Amino acid sequence: MSFYASISHGALVQERPCVSFIPPQKAYPPGINSEPEEDGYTIQLEKHHFKAEEAGDHLVITARIHGNEPSGEVAARRVIAEIQSGHIKLARGQLTIFPLLNPLAKQANVRGIWVDTNRDIHPNSHGPTPEHQIRKAIVAEFKKLKNFFGFRNWHLLDLHSVPLAGKAHVIVSDQPQGGYSLTKKGFLVLACRATKEKNFAQSLGTDTIYERWRHAWHAAEAPDVTALGHTQKSFRGFTSALIHAGLEFGAETSVCLESGQDDDPQSVEVAYNAIRNALQFHGLTDEPALPFPPTTQPEIIRFEKVLVRRDESEQLVGITHDAQRLEPGQVVLRGATREVTVPNEKADWLIAHPIPSANVGRHFGFLARKIA
Ligand SMILES: [Zn+2]
Repeated sequence: MSFYASISHGALVQERPCVSFIPPQKAYPPGINSEPEEDGYTIQLEKHHFKAEEAGDHLVITARIHGNEPSGEVAARRVIAEIQSGHIKLARGQLTIFPLLNPLAKQANVRGIWVDTNRDIHPNSHGPTPEHQIRKAIVAEFKKLKNFFGFRNWHLLDLHSVPLAGKAHVIVSDQPQGGYSLTKKGFLVLACRATKEKNFAQSLGTDTIYERWRHAWHAAEAPDVTALGHTQKSFRGFTSALIHAGLEFGAETSVCLESGQDDDPQSVEVAYNAIRNALQFHGLTDEPALPFPPTTQPEIIRFEKVLVRRDESEQLVGITHDAQRLEPGQVVLRGATREVTVPNEKADWLIAHPIPSANVGRHFGFLARKIA
């Protein structure tokens, strides 16, 4: 059941859902003790859509697919309020904002309750829990964005934060370089998507870009895949995060912002500025981008290998902050049956997105290295 109201707002037509989320009819207590049910709940994603009179690019903002990462939601709601009040004027194009993708995990203040919702998002997503239903609802929304001929003409900014202190950065989806895209006037052009995606990433206001996230998952060893509860076959789908689902459904550029530490108020400011800059970059607003420290060449960091927690005995060793530098040969993970060391190859190694409290069968973070 959904109710949409079209509200004329100056030059904007806004479709605003009156009912954004229908909670489960059967109560699911926050936590993982409850048994997933086959039915009895309906997921309706909260969606705000704004359309300017003049045609232009379509930007989609998604936030809080991880329930314990509040900054993106707070920033997105501020932008929604500022568009409604006229403080932000959309000059052209369309903007769709999903400010809260996982209200259940938010309520429980966890990354995910039954699953990591930001995995396995692909056309065949299915499963028994409400978080599986959220994945399905996201796929359904992304399907609506894909045009009939499959030409790419929308852009995705997905908002996140990290558990330990660290610098804000952007993750790109690793678009292939070539391909056809639609211009805002509807012309078909041969586009350098990878370059455009990196430029989009750089426009957001951080000076660090991470790449090849899926590559790091594919470097997982067989025991990691088993610990994650997957077969080799189902594992490829597992590595489809929201930004990769964006690609699958016709996004021309698709990036993820990690705005800083989860509960740091500064992360909200970083996310807010990134949204404003994304609006500017894709031509939806004419106001100049907010001032940022000038960055010449962004730092490029490449994900190399996921670190999966295989059993209870395993812990990260000496990790206190995000993007912490590591020495070749350094022990980074220790358990009863194995020790993981940084490769002995000389490089600028670091640990990306460390989660020291990760549950068994989830990831502790990634080995990564600075390549530029
Ligand atoms: Zn996240």
